[in-house]
Amino acid sequence: MKQELFYNGNLLAYELEYKKVKNINLRIKADGSIFVSANKRVPKGVIETFVLSKAPYILKVQKDYASRNNKELTPCFSEEEIRKVILELCGKAFPYFENRGVLYPAIRFRKMVSRWGSCHTGKGILTFNTNLMYAPLACVEYVVFHEFTHFLQGNHSKLFYAELEKVCPNWKECRKKLAEIPLRQTVK
Ligand SMILES: [Zn+2]
Repeated sequence: MKQELFYNGNLLAYELEYKKVKNINLRIKADGSIFVSANKRVPKGVIETFVLSKAPYILKVQKDYASRNNKELTPCFSEEEIRKVILELCGKAFPYFENRGVLYPAIRFRKMVSRWGSCHTGKGILTFNTNLMYAPLACVEYVVFHEFTHFLQGNHSKLFYAELEKVCPNWKECRKKLAEIPLRQTVK
């Protein structure tokens, strides 16, 4: 549900979703959009008061994101290099997964706007986003391990992350860094 509030002349537009959360949660995405989830029993007025109480914080975070998103992205690799780097990382990751019964997959490259990589477990295909050229090496390595781990665990379950942790102990840090790279902006 789209909602709108005004705070000191600033429009606060947010998406409200009723969920099984304890009270109210507020999340600001990297593009500045606001998501609020609330328990059904929380009255709307309480939700609005809550959002307004967070307004100074929201506006500050939105401003920070906007200045960051406006910065020109500098690539870490050329498009040719990133393909080579990913293939090398696949070669590095593979022996571990081979020992777990995984066959070497077909590696594909694509420019994607919504994901860094994908794994087709049934067909044995890993697809990597060539926009990874904007990501530091550690993050590219994380994506490679992440996609390979899908051959062991299909979904992003607790088991999936337990497997990922074994081969990529710094996955949380890498995932956070990747989330800061605006994926849509990288596609020209
Ligand atoms: Zn995944």
